Amino acid sequence: MVVDYQCIMPSLVQISGCYHTRFITTAGKAKFTGATHFDIHPENAMQKALEIVAMAVDAYAERDPARVEIPVEPVEIMTGFSNEAVLEALGGTLTPLLDAVKSGAIRGFVGIVGCNNPKIKQDSANVGLAKELIKRDIMVLATGCVTTAAGKAGLLVPEAASMAGDGLKGVCEALGVPPVLHLGSCVDNSRILHLCGLIAKELGVDISDLPVGASSPEWYSEKAAAIGLYAVASGIQTHLGLPPNILGSETVTDLALNGLQDIVGAAFHVEPDPIKAADLLDARIKDRRTRLGLSE
Ligand code: SF4
Repeated sequence: MVVDYQCIMPSLVQISGCYHTRFITTAGKAKFTGATHFDIHPENAMQKALEIVAMAVDAYAERDPARVEIPVEPVEIMTGFSNEAVLEALGGTLTPLLDAVKSGAIRGFVGIVGCNNPKIKQDSANVGLAKELIKRDIMVLATGCVTTAAGKAGLLVPEAASMAGDGLKGVCEALGVPPVLHLGSCVDNSRILHLCGLIAKELGVDISDLPVGASSPEWYSEKAAAIGLYAVASGIQTHLGLPPNILGSETVTDLALNGLQDIVGAAFHVEPDPIKAADLLDARIKDRRTRLGLSE
Protein backbone atom coordinates (compact mmCIF):
# COMPACT_ATOMS: atom_id res chain seq x y z
CA MET A 1 0.00 0.00 0.00
CA VAL A 2 1.49 3.30 -1.14
CA VAL A 3 0.25 6.62 0.25
CA ASP A 4 1.13 10.28 -0.02
CA TYR A 5 -0.53 13.03 2.02
CA GLN A 6 -4.25 12.78 1.27
CA CYS A 7 -6.67 11.51 3.92
CA ILE A 8 -4.84 8.45 5.26
CA MET A 9 -5.74 6.92 8.62
CA PRO A 10 -2.56 6.38 10.67
CA SER A 11 -3.96 3.04 11.88
CA LEU A 12 -3.55 1.63 8.36
CA VAL A 13 0.08 0.87 9.23
CA GLN A 14 -1.07 -1.48 12.00
CA ILE A 15 -3.79 -3.02 9.86
CA SER A 16 -1.25 -3.68 7.10
CA GLY A 17 0.97 -5.29 9.75
CA CYS A 18 -1.78 -7.83 10.47
CA TYR A 19 -1.26 -9.22 6.98
CA HIS A 20 1.82 -9.36 4.81
CA THR A 21 1.28 -5.90 3.38
CA ARG A 22 4.16 -3.44 3.12
CA PHE A 23 3.03 0.10 3.96
CA ILE A 24 4.93 2.78 2.07
CA THR A 25 4.88 6.55 2.47
CA THR A 26 6.12 8.83 -0.28
CA ALA A 27 5.75 12.41 0.99
CA GLY A 28 8.41 13.82 3.32
CA LYS A 29 5.78 15.91 5.16
CA ALA A 30 3.56 12.89 5.83
CA LYS A 31 5.69 10.08 7.24
CA PHE A 32 3.92 7.46 9.37
CA THR A 33 5.40 5.66 12.35
CA GLY A 34 6.12 2.07 11.33
CA ALA A 35 5.89 2.71 7.58
CA THR A 36 8.67 2.25 5.03
CA HIS A 37 9.48 5.64 3.56
CA PHE A 38 10.49 6.22 -0.04
CA ASP A 39 11.58 9.78 -0.72
CA ILE A 40 9.96 10.29 -4.10
CA HIS A 41 10.52 13.22 -6.42
CA PRO A 42 9.75 13.52 -10.15
CA GLU A 43 13.42 12.79 -11.02
CA ASN A 44 13.55 9.46 -9.16
CA ALA A 45 9.89 8.44 -9.36
CA MET A 46 10.31 5.74 -12.03
CA GLN A 47 13.25 4.10 -10.26
CA LYS A 48 11.48 4.16 -6.90
CA ALA A 49 8.29 2.83 -8.45
CA LEU A 50 10.22 -0.16 -9.80
CA GLU A 51 11.67 -0.79 -6.33
CA ILE A 52 8.18 -0.65 -4.79
CA VAL A 53 6.77 -3.04 -7.38
CA ALA A 54 9.65 -5.44 -6.67
CA MET A 55 8.81 -5.24 -2.95
CA ALA A 56 5.17 -6.06 -3.72
CA VAL A 57 6.16 -9.02 -5.87
CA ASP A 58 8.34 -10.37 -3.06
CA ALA A 59 5.52 -9.87 -0.56
CA TYR A 60 3.07 -11.83 -2.71
CA ALA A 61 4.81 -15.07 -1.74
CA GLU A 62 3.73 -14.39 1.88
CA ARG A 63 0.04 -14.07 1.05
CA ASP A 64 -2.09 -16.47 3.08
CA PRO A 65 -5.16 -17.30 0.95
CA ALA A 66 -7.02 -18.31 4.10
CA ARG A 67 -6.74 -14.75 5.47
CA VAL A 68 -6.84 -12.60 2.35
CA GLU A 69 -10.00 -12.23 0.36
CA ILE A 70 -10.02 -9.93 -2.63
CA PRO A 71 -13.73 -9.34 -3.06
CA VAL A 72 -14.15 -7.79 -6.48
CA GLU A 73 -12.93 -8.31 -9.99
CA PRO A 74 -11.06 -5.42 -11.64
CA VAL A 75 -13.41 -3.04 -13.46
CA GLU A 76 -12.92 -0.83 -16.50
CA ILE A 77 -13.29 2.93 -16.09
CA MET A 78 -13.05 5.83 -18.52
CA THR A 79 -11.34 8.78 -16.90
CA GLY A 80 -9.25 11.88 -17.67
CA PHE A 81 -12.03 14.40 -18.25
CA SER A 82 -10.13 17.61 -17.71
CA ASN A 83 -11.95 20.69 -19.02
CA GLU A 84 -9.59 20.66 -21.98
CA ALA A 85 -10.56 17.04 -22.74
CA VAL A 86 -14.27 17.87 -22.38
CA LEU A 87 -13.93 20.79 -24.79
CA GLU A 88 -11.90 18.68 -27.20
CA ALA A 89 -14.57 15.94 -27.14
CA LEU A 90 -17.13 18.65 -27.96
CA GLY A 91 -15.13 19.92 -30.93
CA GLY A 92 -13.50 22.85 -29.07
CA THR A 93 -16.73 24.64 -28.15
CA LEU A 94 -19.35 24.42 -25.44
CA THR A 95 -22.17 24.83 -27.97
CA PRO A 96 -23.16 21.13 -28.24
CA LEU A 97 -23.31 20.88 -24.45
CA LEU A 98 -25.34 24.08 -24.12
CA ASP A 99 -27.68 22.92 -26.88
CA ALA A 100 -28.25 19.67 -24.97
CA VAL A 101 -29.00 21.68 -21.80
CA LYS A 102 -31.33 24.05 -23.66
CA SER A 103 -33.24 21.20 -25.27
CA GLY A 104 -33.54 19.42 -21.92
CA ALA A 105 -31.67 16.32 -23.12
CA ILE A 106 -29.34 17.16 -20.24
CA ARG A 107 -31.47 18.87 -17.59
CA GLY A 108 -28.49 19.92 -15.49
CA PHE A 109 -25.27 18.89 -13.80
CA VAL A 110 -24.39 17.77 -10.29
CA GLY A 111 -20.84 17.43 -9.01
CA ILE A 112 -20.64 14.48 -6.61
CA VAL A 113 -17.53 14.84 -4.55
CA GLY A 114 -15.84 13.24 -1.64
CA CYS A 115 -15.35 10.39 0.68
CA ASN A 116 -16.82 7.24 2.14
CA ASN A 117 -18.12 7.69 5.68
CA PRO A 118 -18.24 4.77 8.15
CA LYS A 119 -21.61 6.06 9.40
CA ILE A 120 -23.12 5.17 6.01
CA LYS A 121 -23.18 1.75 4.33
CA GLN A 122 -20.18 1.94 2.04
CA ASP A 123 -20.96 3.46 -1.38
CA SER A 124 -24.73 3.32 -0.85
CA ALA A 125 -25.29 7.09 -0.82
CA ASN A 126 -22.59 7.92 -3.40
CA VAL A 127 -23.85 5.36 -5.90
CA GLY A 128 -27.53 5.70 -4.97
CA LEU A 129 -27.48 9.44 -5.66
CA ALA A 130 -25.48 9.16 -8.89
CA LYS A 131 -27.85 6.51 -10.29
CA GLU A 132 -30.93 8.50 -9.34
CA LEU A 133 -29.61 11.70 -10.92
CA ILE A 134 -28.60 10.18 -14.25
CA LYS A 135 -32.02 8.51 -14.43
CA ARG A 136 -33.45 12.05 -14.29
CA ASP A 137 -31.23 13.25 -17.18
CA ILE A 138 -28.87 15.06 -14.83
CA MET A 139 -25.24 14.50 -15.75
CA VAL A 140 -22.88 13.74 -12.86
CA LEU A 141 -19.33 15.05 -12.57
CA ALA A 142 -17.35 13.06 -10.00
CA THR A 143 -14.16 13.89 -8.13
CA GLY A 144 -12.41 12.32 -5.17
CA CYS A 145 -12.89 8.95 -3.54
CA VAL A 146 -16.49 8.70 -4.80
CA THR A 147 -14.83 7.74 -8.07
CA THR A 148 -13.96 4.31 -6.71
CA ALA A 149 -17.59 3.75 -5.71
CA ALA A 150 -18.85 4.93 -9.11
CA GLY A 151 -16.29 2.77 -10.92
CA LYS A 152 -17.23 -0.36 -8.97
CA ALA A 153 -20.89 0.33 -9.75
CA GLY A 154 -20.10 0.40 -13.49
CA LEU A 155 -20.99 4.08 -13.85
CA LEU A 156 -17.71 5.24 -15.40
CA VAL A 157 -17.96 3.47 -18.75
CA PRO A 158 -19.93 4.57 -21.83
CA GLU A 159 -22.20 1.48 -21.44
CA ALA A 160 -23.55 3.11 -18.24
CA ALA A 161 -25.60 5.32 -20.56
CA SER A 162 -28.17 2.51 -20.44
CA MET A 163 -28.82 3.49 -16.77
CA ALA A 164 -29.55 7.13 -17.75
CA GLY A 165 -32.79 8.80 -18.81
CA ASP A 166 -33.49 8.92 -22.55
CA GLY A 167 -32.11 12.46 -23.05
CA LEU A 168 -28.81 11.96 -21.26
CA LYS A 169 -28.49 8.49 -22.75
CA GLY A 170 -28.71 9.96 -26.26
CA VAL A 171 -26.03 12.57 -25.56
CA CYS A 172 -23.67 10.02 -23.98
CA GLU A 173 -24.13 7.59 -26.84
CA ALA A 174 -23.51 10.33 -29.40
CA LEU A 175 -20.30 11.44 -27.65
CA GLY A 176 -19.19 7.97 -26.49
CA VAL A 177 -18.84 9.11 -22.87
CA PRO A 178 -20.24 7.81 -19.55
CA PRO A 179 -23.12 9.67 -17.84
CA VAL A 180 -20.79 10.11 -14.84
CA LEU A 181 -17.63 11.96 -15.83
CA HIS A 182 -14.60 11.63 -13.57
CA LEU A 183 -12.74 14.96 -13.37
CA GLY A 184 -9.99 14.14 -10.89
CA SER A 185 -9.24 14.10 -7.19
CA CYS A 186 -11.34 15.99 -4.66
CA VAL A 187 -8.94 18.92 -4.89
CA ASP A 188 -9.66 19.15 -8.63
CA ASN A 189 -13.08 20.71 -8.05
CA SER A 190 -11.70 23.92 -9.40
CA ARG A 191 -12.21 22.19 -12.78
CA ILE A 192 -15.96 21.88 -12.13
CA LEU A 193 -16.14 25.49 -10.98
CA HIS A 194 -14.17 26.58 -14.03
CA LEU A 195 -16.59 24.69 -16.28
CA CYS A 196 -19.55 26.34 -14.50
CA GLY A 197 -17.84 29.71 -14.98
CA LEU A 198 -17.44 29.08 -18.72
CA ILE A 199 -21.10 28.06 -19.09
CA ALA A 200 -22.32 31.03 -17.03
CA LYS A 201 -20.24 33.41 -19.14
CA GLU A 202 -21.55 31.87 -22.35
CA LEU A 203 -25.15 32.32 -21.14
CA GLY A 204 -24.47 35.76 -19.63
CA VAL A 205 -25.72 34.77 -16.16
CA ASP A 206 -24.30 34.15 -12.69
CA ILE A 207 -23.18 30.65 -11.59
CA SER A 208 -26.05 30.73 -9.07
CA ASP A 209 -28.49 30.98 -12.00
CA LEU A 210 -27.34 27.72 -13.60
CA PRO A 211 -29.20 24.38 -13.38
CA VAL A 212 -26.39 22.81 -11.38
CA GLY A 213 -25.78 21.41 -7.92
CA ALA A 214 -23.11 19.81 -5.79
CA SER A 215 -23.15 16.97 -3.33
CA SER A 216 -20.94 15.12 -0.91
CA PRO A 217 -23.20 12.26 0.16
CA GLU A 218 -20.67 10.38 2.31
CA TRP A 219 -18.23 13.10 3.33
CA TYR A 220 -16.12 12.50 6.43
CA SER A 221 -13.08 14.75 5.97
CA GLU A 222 -13.23 18.41 6.97
CA LYS A 223 -11.56 19.01 3.65
CA ALA A 224 -14.69 17.80 1.87
CA ALA A 225 -16.93 20.08 3.95
CA ALA A 226 -14.60 22.98 3.13
CA ILE A 227 -14.89 22.10 -0.56
CA GLY A 228 -18.69 22.20 -0.08
CA LEU A 229 -18.36 25.72 1.27
CA TYR A 230 -16.31 26.65 -1.80
CA ALA A 231 -19.18 25.41 -3.98
CA VAL A 232 -21.84 27.27 -1.96
CA ALA A 233 -19.75 30.46 -1.92
CA SER A 234 -19.60 30.19 -5.71
CA GLY A 235 -23.40 30.05 -5.92
CA ILE A 236 -23.91 26.29 -6.19
CA GLN A 237 -26.57 24.67 -4.01
CA THR A 238 -24.78 21.89 -2.12
CA HIS A 239 -26.02 18.71 -0.51
CA LEU A 240 -24.25 16.97 2.37
CA GLY A 241 -25.28 13.48 3.49
CA LEU A 242 -24.45 14.29 7.11
CA PRO A 243 -24.41 17.61 8.97
CA PRO A 244 -21.08 19.35 9.63
CA ASN A 245 -20.20 19.95 13.28
CA ILE A 246 -22.05 23.25 13.47
CA LEU A 247 -25.30 22.15 15.11
CA GLY A 248 -24.21 23.65 18.44
CA SER A 249 -25.01 27.08 17.04
CA GLU A 250 -28.51 27.82 15.83
CA THR A 251 -27.27 30.97 14.08
CA VAL A 252 -24.53 29.22 12.12
CA THR A 253 -26.81 26.29 11.26
CA ASP A 254 -29.50 28.64 10.01
CA LEU A 255 -26.95 30.61 8.01
CA ALA A 256 -25.64 27.43 6.34
CA LEU A 257 -29.10 26.04 5.53
CA ASN A 258 -30.94 29.26 4.69
CA GLY A 259 -29.20 32.57 5.29
CA LEU A 260 -26.48 32.17 2.68
CA GLN A 261 -29.14 31.98 -0.03
CA ASP A 262 -29.67 35.75 0.08
CA ILE A 263 -25.95 36.45 0.15
CA VAL A 264 -24.41 34.10 -2.41
CA GLY A 265 -27.48 32.59 -4.09
CA ALA A 266 -26.95 29.11 -2.65
CA ALA A 267 -26.92 27.22 0.64
CA PHE A 268 -26.54 23.71 2.04
CA HIS A 269 -29.02 20.84 2.16
CA VAL A 270 -28.43 18.05 4.65
CA GLU A 271 -30.16 14.78 3.77
CA PRO A 272 -28.93 11.23 4.40
CA ASP A 273 -31.36 9.53 1.99
CA PRO A 274 -29.94 9.58 -1.55
CA ILE A 275 -33.35 9.57 -3.25
CA LYS A 276 -34.59 12.51 -1.16
CA ALA A 277 -31.25 14.24 -1.86
CA ALA A 278 -31.85 13.72 -5.59
CA ASP A 279 -35.31 15.29 -5.14
CA LEU A 280 -33.75 18.37 -3.50
CA LEU A 281 -31.07 18.80 -6.18
CA ASP A 282 -33.62 18.11 -8.92
CA ALA A 283 -35.96 20.79 -7.51
CA ARG A 284 -33.16 23.36 -7.65
CA ILE A 285 -32.32 22.38 -11.24
CA LYS A 286 -35.99 22.58 -12.22
CA ASP A 287 -36.28 26.01 -10.63
CA ARG A 288 -33.18 27.33 -12.37
CA ARG A 289 -34.31 25.94 -15.73
CA THR A 290 -37.66 27.68 -15.32
CA ARG A 291 -35.99 30.97 -14.41
CA LEU A 292 -33.76 30.71 -17.50
CA GLY A 293 -36.84 30.06 -19.63
CA LEU A 294 -35.78 26.51 -20.47
CA SER A 295 -38.48 23.92 -20.88
CA GLU A 296 -38.49 20.73 -18.83
S1 SF4 B 1 -12.65 12.42 -1.18
FE1 SF4 B 1 -12.61 12.62 1.05
S2 SF4 B 1 -11.39 10.90 1.79
FE2 SF4 B 1 -11.01 11.12 -0.40
S3 SF4 B 1 -9.17 12.40 -0.52
FE3 SF4 B 1 -10.95 13.75 -0.67
S4 SF4 B 1 -11.40 14.46 1.39
FE4 SF4 B 1 -10.02 12.68 1.54
